[in-house]
Amino acid sequence: MGTGYNVKYFGPARPELDAAIDVRLQTLNAQLSTYRDDSEISRFNKAPANEWFAVSASTAEIVISAQAISRLSAGAFDITVGPLVNLWGFGAADYRDSPPPAAAIEALLSTLGYANVEVQTAPPMLSKKRPETAIDLSAIAKGYAVDEVGKLLDAAGLDAWLVEVGGELRTRGSKPGGNWQVAIEKPAPAERRVQRIVALRDAAIATSGDYRNFFEFDGVRYSHSINPRTGWPVKAGIGSVSVIANSAMLADAWATALLVMGETEALRIAEEQQLAVSLVLYNSDGSVTERLSAAFQQLLNE
Ligand code: FAD
Repeated sequence: MGTGYNVKYFGPARPELDAAIDVRLQTLNAQLSTYRDDSEISRFNKAPANEWFAVSASTAEIVISAQAISRLSAGAFDITVGPLVNLWGFGAADYRDSPPPAAAIEALLSTLGYANVEVQTAPPMLSKKRPETAIDLSAIAKGYAVDEVGKLLDAAGLDAWLVEVGGELRTRGSKPGGNWQVAIEKPAPAERRVQRIVALRDAAIATSGDYRNFFEFDGVRYSHSINPRTGWPVKAGIGSVSVIANSAMLADAWATALLVMGETEALRIAEEQQLAVSLVLYNSDGSVTERLSAAFQQLLNE
């Protein structure tokens, strides 16, 4: 998935479990990657419109969850941003160091819309209403992969583990010395500093931000989270959004959705959906301000 993964559990090494984890992640990569031409998603993206396309059950499950977050976020989360992600150089296409022509953005903008993708589960299949629709699951699939590895660890009878794939993370139980302590980074491109440490027990956390995957042009930072309403990268002044949830897939998707929504909308939705959210906002003097939802504050008080 273009990133690394970590699995921590206590007790004797379990080589057969380690192997099963690697196989599961390789399988998901082969199904979900837009960086492999032979993946399910890449083949679906090239398939004609208005025809059902067979996919694996996990792909259908992820798309169903993605569509639900799209509806709840009024389209801020939208897996059909794929062509725009590529146009801006943040996908499998060539990297850019300047914005693409506005006309090219406008042309793609009209092809977007999560409602253009239909999904069914019995049997698992996808369909699209427009031939140019291409989906990108990068904002949700790594979280799903974390959950899937967690299922293997639970099935192996382990009751204390931590799984991390590309920054999305989930824990079970606690370490022998106490709760798993997880650091949320301060949004700072040039260094790794800690914004806060949270104790994470039987929960997942994901963070989306504008300070790792971006380019700067004429003093403006363009990051990889795209606003489907404008076709441009988000410039909402939010450095990062961290979400704690029961599943890493939902935490992953909500982190991107809330980043795209901007501070006011994100905090409103967080309270409405009782999401545990931390927003880290940039101040004009270079400092940052953290805004917490009630559910996040409550977790800190526990
Ligand atoms: P997140 O904030 O979690 O997601 C941001 C990403 O979501 C963007 O990069 C974009 O792709 C997408 N996105 C942007 N705006 C929206 C929106 N409004 N709604 C929904 N989605 C949006 N990277 C490589 O370099 N090489 C690889 O081989 C590779 N393989 C991959 C295989 C898989 C199965 C997946 C899921 C990803 C792969 N990636 C690869 C991409 C990489 O792993 C990360 O997914 C990517 O950098 C974004 O993850 P993040 O956690 O940094 O950002």
